[in-house]
Amino acid sequence: MAHLALKGGDPVRRAPFPAWPIWGDEEIENLATVVRSGKWGCTTGSFTAEFERKFSAYHSAAYGVCVNSGTTALRIALLAADIGPGDRVLVPAYTFFASASAVVEAGAVPVFVDIDPATCTIDPRLAEEACTDGITALMPVHFAGRPADMDAFTALARKRGLKIIEDAAQAWGSEWRGRKVGTFGEAGCFSFQSSKNITAGEGGVIVTNDEVVARMARSHSNCGRRPQGQWYEHFSLGGNSRMTEFQSAVLLAQLARYEGQRKTREKNLLYLNERLAGVQGIQTLESDPRVSAHSAHLFIFRYKREAFAGKPKAAFVRALQEEGIPASSGYADPLYNQPVFVNTAFGPRGRSVPWPVDYRSFHCPATERACREEAVWLTQNVLLGTGSDMDDVVEAIDKVRTHAGEME
Ligand SMILES: *Cc1c(COP(=O)(O)O)cnc(C)c1O
Repeated sequence: MAHLALKGGDPVRRAPFPAWPIWGDEEIENLATVVRSGKWGCTTGSFTAEFERKFSAYHSAAYGVCVNSGTTALRIALLAADIGPGDRVLVPAYTFFASASAVVEAGAVPVFVDIDPATCTIDPRLAEEACTDGITALMPVHFAGRPADMDAFTALARKRGLKIIEDAAQAWGSEWRGRKVGTFGEAGCFSFQSSKNITAGEGGVIVTNDEVVARMARSHSNCGRRPQGQWYEHFSLGGNSRMTEFQSAVLLAQLARYEGQRKTREKNLLYLNERLAGVQGIQTLESDPRVSAHSAHLFIFRYKREAFAGKPKAAFVRALQEEGIPASSGYADPLYNQPVFVNTAFGPRGRSVPWPVDYRSFHCPATERACREEAVWLTQNVLLGTGSDMDDVVEAIDKVRTHAGEME
């Protein structure tokens, strides 16, 4: 008689976890208001300006500039911070593609740094070692919503004269020592893409305390215009990356209920960490009192195959899914192994271009281990469940471990 659902046993649960997105009458009413107003673009309507004000206030930033995606936010924040051709930017190897592709799009060169496996964020010690002469900027990614070590990175930036662009695309409301992420350096970038904890399907925002960065971000996202200029006057090479009023209408409603949801996710993340600390073969990420608020975009834990009959991570994730837990393996490879970086395929039609860095020479062991062997993810919607939903997660992991021999 098999026990694992994978082999025909009863799954730990059949009920789904909370679906995402969550919406209410507020989204629908705001959208109807925008439709009826006939002011569908942010150059005529007022919803985008209101969202910029409210989101930047939430992150204690003086300025917010909405754009059409998190990827665009990163590219424009880099340009607005005067990072471009001739610059090299430190980026973690374990992050979404956009963290590094935006650097290339801005005309600069990403240089990959390994993560600290205990936090899954860029390792400050390795970042310092990677600070050779050409490095002019640093992109800490607050991965999964956990702030990178901003004590270390602000100190490193000061010492080396580096600019900081925070990739906070997963870190709405996250705090480092009581201070919201996004304004530790020149700018912080957030995403509102479908999977994100605040979403309008697509969208992004740049926050900053620097008036020049804000002004240039606006210009680069709005056809090179200037606040006092004429509509057909263009001062910089800006495209049209503006957000629509429909997006802002939805985002205002999402933001209003965000902090409550964030607290639920954070509570469940802390609870899972506590419960899983007692499960053999599972290593939770290190807790750090300096992380005073966590967006919990992902819950990440480390799988140790020795405790699971030596079975590979992929088999474990499949077994968990069959038990009714929507776990995932996350990124399969470090960014420097992506074909576009291996081939420096940055030209038109993905043609290879001459490049000062050979990405085939990178080797980040902690990132490679996270991708191939250890890191298992649960997405933010799972963390909106109840305490008993979290107990099911723990029970399923423990069940798979007990019957690990049944895994393929
Ligand atoms: C989602 C994400 C982005 C890109 O945001 P989009 O809105 O999808 O363009 C960038 N960096 C990280 C870490 C992300 O998770």
